[in-house]
Amino acid sequence: MAYILSVFAVRNLLVLSLALNVSLILRVLLLHDSQDGSFNGFFFAEQKEEALATKITRLSSSVAPSSSLTMAQGDEDRVINLDHGDPTMYESYWQKKGDETTVVIPGWQFMSYFSDATRLCWFLEPEFAKQIVRLHNVVGNAVTENRHIVVGTGSTQLFQAALYALSPCAEAEPISVVSAAPYYSSYPLITDCLKSRLYKWAGDARSFSKNGPYIELVTSPNNPDGFARRSVVNGSEGILIHDLAYYWPQYTPISSPANYDLMLFTVSKSTGHAGMRIGWALVKDEDVARKMTKYIEINTIGVSKDSQVRAAKVLKVISDNSEGPNEGDSFFEFSYRVMAKRWKQLREAVQQSGLFSVSDFPPQLCMFLNRVFEPQPAFAWIKCEGDIEDCESFLRGKKILTRGGKHFGVNPKYVRISMLDRDKNYETFVRRLSTIRS
Ligand code: PMP
Repeated sequence: MAYILSVFAVRNLLVLSLALNVSLILRVLLLHDSQDGSFNGFFFAEQKEEALATKITRLSSSVAPSSSLTMAQGDEDRVINLDHGDPTMYESYWQKKGDETTVVIPGWQFMSYFSDATRLCWFLEPEFAKQIVRLHNVVGNAVTENRHIVVGTGSTQLFQAALYALSPCAEAEPISVVSAAPYYSSYPLITDCLKSRLYKWAGDARSFSKNGPYIELVTSPNNPDGFARRSVVNGSEGILIHDLAYYWPQYTPISSPANYDLMLFTVSKSTGHAGMRIGWALVKDEDVARKMTKYIEINTIGVSKDSQVRAAKVLKVISDNSEGPNEGDSFFEFSYRVMAKRWKQLREAVQQSGLFSVSDFPPQLCMFLNRVFEPQPAFAWIKCEGDIEDCESFLRGKKILTRGGKHFGVNPKYVRISMLDRDKNYETFVRRLSTIRS
């Protein structure tokens, strides 16, 4: 009897301590969040509910698969976070490539601040510059002749460097910065973050009518809606920044090389290596390129050489495979196929549900893949039909986290959904979407 009692007590103690541990971890995580008021630094402090739901998902997925938490939460009622455009879909390709893109850096290498002091952009690694030009030539998506390359810590830093470089400094008022709605939700936040006296966010480019100079951001294909874009403001003193983060063949047919004064690219959405934090700008005007370089010098004294070397290797492998005998296994073939499959699944799910709609895109010839196809954007821009006014809240109720239209300067009937998550999450998402009735 005493033996049975003692076993029972030990069991009870174990269960009690497990429950206490889980609640303790939850409290620590949530307390931490409420203290700094931020959510992964993604500019959405107001999304407390999502943060909570995400923490719970993260916690449950970090516990071993045999734990009771995971077993109790089946795939069907798991929270799916498709708010951020985190490009984890690409992991499986690079995993298959094994050591082809592995970079080993001895401890004594890349210690200097300088990469090539004779260059305009003195912190740009020569090998990275070479691979950027090569990849653009292989894909045919941008003109690189007579351009200066400026490297940045992601194109996010380059966007800020471009604002700094393009803003007239002798004006009494800050220059207006506009973009046609729906625009990338980070533009207004980044532009007004420091309340600069050089530049100021002025909203939707379509309703902008102020005289004088302005900066227009043209994102093509556009984040969030995927459409190809041109500038829309009809002023004579416009300065354009072309954000071409998604002008790659897995997302849209490459019809001709982009040929603009200031073009921004990033590895985050081209190769999927968002964590490297590497972007590059192709800049026609030498003075603008110099000022952008100056901004990055003042801001971070250059850009991680380790990341540039790693990025150079990844771009090289993509170019080698796109041109070589294993073309069928190339990065863009793989990513094109995944995106095509996902868009097909999404359209089927939207049709089955009947509560949502997504745009159709006109097909075009891709000069790089040599086939005609419809754009298959990195984000789905979904509209809730009928009397659902707030699509983000509606989907949150179904445990699908998205980013609502108001962040992009439009109606809350729209949401943006990342199409770049891992297979398992994406599959669960489309399955759930197809079953939503009301
Ligand atoms: N521009 C656009 C249009 C984007 O969608 C993103 C990423 N969401 C960026 C820039 C930022 O890219 P990076 O990771 O290089 O800072």
